[in-house]
Amino acid sequence: MRFVDEFRDPVRAGYLLREIEGLAETIMRDRDRTIVIMEVCGGHTHSIFRYGIEKMLPRSIEFAHGPGCPVCVLPMGRVDDCVALAERPEVIFTTFGDAMRVPGSRVSLLGAKAAGADVRMVYSPLDALALARANPAREVVFFGLGFETTMPSTALTILQAQAEGIRNFSLFCNHITIIPTIKAILDSPDMRIDGFLGPGHVSMVIGTEPYDFIARDYHRPLVVAGFEPLDVLHSVWMVLRQIAEGRAEIENQYARIVPEKGNPASLSAVTEVFELREFFEWRGLGSIDHSGVRVRERYAAWDAERKFAVASPSIPDPKACQCGEVLKGAIKPWQCKLFGRACTPETPMGALMVSSEGACAAYYQYGGVELEQVP
Ligand code: SF4
Repeated sequence: MRFVDEFRDPVRAGYLLREIEGLAETIMRDRDRTIVIMEVCGGHTHSIFRYGIEKMLPRSIEFAHGPGCPVCVLPMGRVDDCVALAERPEVIFTTFGDAMRVPGSRVSLLGAKAAGADVRMVYSPLDALALARANPAREVVFFGLGFETTMPSTALTILQAQAEGIRNFSLFCNHITIIPTIKAILDSPDMRIDGFLGPGHVSMVIGTEPYDFIARDYHRPLVVAGFEPLDVLHSVWMVLRQIAEGRAEIENQYARIVPEKGNPASLSAVTEVFELREFFEWRGLGSIDHSGVRVRERYAAWDAERKFAVASPSIPDPKACQCGEVLKGAIKPWQCKLFGRACTPETPMGALMVSSEGACAAYYQYGGVELEQVP
């Protein structure tokens, strides 16, 4: 297939759905609970709801929405750090747009901007570097956020800043890594996941090999999946086929984009600039060992945490907010008491309602949940 329409072809979708129904029926003969497939990546959550895929599948298949939306797992304390940096008079604070409305304990970045802080939305870290070049009397801080997908562009920007000798640019590093997080989910006592749809964009950088332990040590299948409706259906079918055949392997449905070995040039830039942190706090999941990166000592001049002595307080979410339970798959978004009432995309109380890749925002926008159903 070459064109996007072909990945949305209803006839092919119908064929795949019939195959999925057959496999689900076979699997359900020997079990008494639903088949749970976790889509790790927020991009898949968005596709699943946007195209109504969950409603097409047999009731015996359930999606658990994973932690793969970096905005959604950003803890409140880090948002407060961003605001504190943005409020410094010498700082121009730059960020991707989807982080602007994530609530902090006091105010979001958008709120800080409204109150006078110099917060600017950029499309890439290179835009932030251009701002530093154009404003030599100011300190430009870039809010680096995301998994391995966005890490390479941040790393390359720091290398570029070093090459040009630009000293008024620094990174507030909040990049996180997916593998320790999947492992933490697999190790949790209430784990009930039967298989995974693996993240497409992250895998483009890291390849498929880092997932091998999931099949080898936990005997769960993982299929790296694309984002179009037929990609998702095909990947679900591949996961079910493995379960039906009693296999647990790592397969790559998104081979048109994801090379088995990843992208060596990107990986080498990431390794050059970043090192693993001992631990990193995730909203709703707590602290996970080696799940984040920081800037290496040799690039300290471009590290905002060292330059401005960032506080990083640990701040719990508001009591009524149930983002953590949603992230662990323990409840569906609409079961949160705030869903659709106190918490909407216009007035988000939790980060899962902010990004379009957040499970709550996806349910709100496409889930077809009537407010009468909401407790
Ligand atoms: S509805 Fe809002 S507060 Fe509740 S889990 Fe979702 S984002 Fe968090």
